[in-house]
Amino acid sequence: MATDSWINETLYAEWGQRFLVKRELARVQSDFQDIAIFESASHGRVMLLDGVVQITEGDEFVYQEMLTHVPLLAHGAAKNVLIIGAGDGGVLKRVLQHRGVARAVMVEIDGEVIRLAKEFLPGIGGDAWNDPRAEVIVGDGIDYVKRAPDAAFDVIIVDSTDPIGVGEVLFTDEFYANAARILSAGGLIVNQCGVPFMQADELRDTSLRRARFFPHVGAYVAAVPTYVGGFMTLGFAAKAPGLDAVPVETIRARAEAAGILGGTSYWTPEVHWSAFQLPPYIAKHLPARG
Ligand code: SAM
Repeated sequence: MATDSWINETLYAEWGQRFLVKRELARVQSDFQDIAIFESASHGRVMLLDGVVQITEGDEFVYQEMLTHVPLLAHGAAKNVLIIGAGDGGVLKRVLQHRGVARAVMVEIDGEVIRLAKEFLPGIGGDAWNDPRAEVIVGDGIDYVKRAPDAAFDVIIVDSTDPIGVGEVLFTDEFYANAARILSAGGLIVNQCGVPFMQADELRDTSLRRARFFPHVGAYVAAVPTYVGGFMTLGFAAKAPGLDAVPVETIRARAEAAGILGGTSYWTPEVHWSAFQLPPYIAKHLPARG
């Protein structure tokens, strides 16, 4: 076990970040990926998959709040929610904070991520794992969406790894075609699209792909300190118009009714609205609006 050494993230060959490690807690080669969890000197506990930072206790609230509260409150009446990936449990926890959610199905391919997150990152999923509304399935998201019935979900949240390895299928035509089919009429899907300063292709290519299956495609931003490179983008694709421009007062009223207002550390109604106002260097990668 490493003590007081540095861990370098391997996301980019030419640029990166490093963490001072106080203690390595777990290192497991699962059937899908290399999973490492360590105690950092700066960000609390950190989980890496194949050398890429997935989550830190210090800043997970930014990513998880924006990946969850934005789509649920943009929809406004979501009852059935599908989460794909997100094995740490943080999205599941935030989804279940919404009073109106009746059922949250989470499909994570790697049971080892779930097991290790429960053991070493227990605060991230909290009690969500035992919530009677939660259905946690260990399986491939692409298979799940293929088999799910039409119009079964109001919101789909994809919290995947980048489009390499096991996560690649979640960025394909087949995935988005089925996602559109299993969403209800006012439904929408969000997914992480990387940091556009460094991974513009990811935003551009997946936005074009989503536009083949959804009439309303956009993106919003969140500044996650450990996803280095400035804003990260969260892709947004909806069946109904206007869900990316819901007025602040409507969002506030929905958040109050949902039991979310005042309980967040990054998301607010104003942050929600302004997250869709994209800097030109990001907006230029989205398909032109018709
Ligand atoms: N928040 C992180 C980020 O953006 O870097 C990602 C969270 S991480 C927990 C993503 C999860 O997606 C991993 O646990 C991985 O096992 C899972 N995953 C990757 N491909 C998947 C697939 N095809 N089906 C379901 N889960 C998948």
